[in-house]
Amino acid sequence: MSAYGAPLKDMRFVLNELAGLDAVAKLPGYEEASPETVDAILEEAAKFATQALDPLNFSGDQEGSKWHDGAVTTPKGFKEAYRQFVEGGWNALPLEAEWGGQGLPKLVATPVDEMWVSANMSFSLCPLLTQGAIEALLTAGSEALKKAFLPKMVEGAWTGTMNLTEPQAGSDLALVRTKAVREGDHYLISGQKIFITYGEHDLTENIVHLVLARTPDAPEGVKGISLFVVPKFLVKPDGTLGERNRASCASIEHKLGIHASPTAVMVYDNAVGYLVGEENKGLAYMFIMMNAARFGVGLEGVAISERAFQRALAYAMERLQGKDLLEGGATVPIIRHPDVRRMLMLMKAQTEAMRALAYVVASAMDVAGTHPDAAMRKQNQAFVDLMIPVVKGWSTETGIEVASLGVQVHGGMGFIEETGAAQHLRDARIATIYEGTTGIQANDLIGRKIAREGGATVKGWLEHLAKFDAELAKSAHPDVARLRETLAAGAKAVGESVDWLLATFGKDVRAASAGAVPFLKLMGVVAGGWQMARAALAAEKRLAADEGEQAFYKAKIVTARFYADHVLVQAPGLRDTVLNGGAAAMALDDEQFLAA
Ligand SMILES: Cc1cc2nc3c(=O)[nH]c(=O)nc-3n(C[C@H](O)[C@H](O)[C@H](O)COP(=O)(O)OP(=O)(O)OC[C@H]3O[C@@H](n4cnc5c(N)ncnc54)[C@H](O)[C@@H]3O)c2cc1C
Repeated sequence: MSAYGAPLKDMRFVLNELAGLDAVAKLPGYEEASPETVDAILEEAAKFATQALDPLNFSGDQEGSKWHDGAVTTPKGFKEAYRQFVEGGWNALPLEAEWGGQGLPKLVATPVDEMWVSANMSFSLCPLLTQGAIEALLTAGSEALKKAFLPKMVEGAWTGTMNLTEPQAGSDLALVRTKAVREGDHYLISGQKIFITYGEHDLTENIVHLVLARTPDAPEGVKGISLFVVPKFLVKPDGTLGERNRASCASIEHKLGIHASPTAVMVYDNAVGYLVGEENKGLAYMFIMMNAARFGVGLEGVAISERAFQRALAYAMERLQGKDLLEGGATVPIIRHPDVRRMLMLMKAQTEAMRALAYVVASAMDVAGTHPDAAMRKQNQAFVDLMIPVVKGWSTETGIEVASLGVQVHGGMGFIEETGAAQHLRDARIATIYEGTTGIQANDLIGRKIAREGGATVKGWLEHLAKFDAELAKSAHPDVARLRETLAAGAKAVGESVDWLLATFGKDVRAASAGAVPFLKLMGVVAGGWQMARAALAAEKRLAADEGEQAFYKAKIVTARFYADHVLVQAPGLRDTVLNGGAAAMALDDEQFLAA
């Protein structure tokens, strides 16, 4: 089975040429992110991902996490790998220096996180969820709560979870029923949560659950939800662990993928909980931190795609079958067959496009968070808000497509577990579901991110694309010319869809909503094309200057051209679905579905 190799050349290229690492390193507080430091971090992370995490991916999937009598045992090797992860300071990398983190920019943490997921998605979920819980505390926690929990969580000595979902409350959190009754300086939490990632495990001595619940007199719906910290073990005033809280894991789920990651049913039975921020504001706090969590899951789509591509490529180089179409002769590796090449290129091109968009959004998050100029912060935050559902929805949906292509490249062996290709497809499948399904992302995109502001940010982005067209026009390269042509058609398709959505949202919200996912895909396809066109221009410049990795730059231009002809060309078709598809999607009544 092929080993994971971090795509360091592409990561560096995207960081430096497309995502503006040099500008991010000039932002206040990020001075340490010099090219040398970032290079060293990437090299070390690549080593850890390849040597410590990747070897546990297949065995972890086969063995799975096990539940017995309320306790969960992670697969062999996970505990040791987690210990090394914490000792290496990896958990603290992106977190606030004030609480013991290294305070590096999101842009630097992003390729590192990508490596963890590529090497072992199940493992990576534990630190991802801890980060989510830390964000929640940072957003609204009191100083006392922060002091009690953050240092250990930032270090990784304790992990965190996010407890939103209940059997009757999934996408619709208005239906949360878990109760919180005030008792002195704390609350007593009672209820059941399901699907809680790393809700119970044996990696650390304590687990800090962030739990959504309702106080008895809370208003109905989302306006009555509060957020609580519920530790597995209570923490004494001196910081040591006290008695076991009444929070227990009733079982873990048997599921399609991410077998090593325990997905827990949690039962709270008058468990001690501490209010985060104010009562009834829980969902508002969740929304503040949602960008980071959704971005993290979007990145899973990129990372799984990369890993599936590498595995398929290794197999295609070795598997001998058929003859060269032109030359005949001896049996050739399947990579010589045009259709296998098409599949590999489709995997490669989409992965690179998704990576570029994700890193560009990460960079905008850094600017939005720390730029001294308020107008810059605002403009970048608007761009981030617009693009988060795209990164989440498009990258995860495409991740499934890429992982499925990976199985196809393997032929029958792809369907057999021992090659590892099937695991990527199984693992990729969850990313379009948790942290808001693709349907929920798409509703957010057309509703909160476009209709509510009259399309201001998306139109600003289209204006930017129009200006970028002038840059593309300066290139004499035929591949860049094709990129220019397809990107212009893609931008036009987005513009027409936005106009239609703005006109339709208020008067026929069902038709608008029926086209929401195709629109999200259209946005992803075009935003990815924008990045591939930028990549091609940057590569062209490097080639002309005869600098650096010439073979890499040549491949980048070819890959971008492939993206134009195989992916970007889909944009006008997606527009047609957005504009015309709603009526038929809604035309049958419920009974007519049963008519056949
Ligand atoms: C492995 C795994 C790990 C998870 N980890 C966590 C965790 O750590 N913490 C946590 O709190 N939760 C977690 N979840 C729960 C996850 O976030 C939910 O499954 C997800 O939000 C969807 O909710 P649901 O399963 O109830 O589906 P439903 O909400 O019932 O959705 C079913 C279908 O209906 C669609 N739908 C629903 N409402 C709408 C709407 N308004 N508009 C359009 N379409 C709609 C959805 O898109 C979906 O296709 C996890 C789930 C799994 C499977």
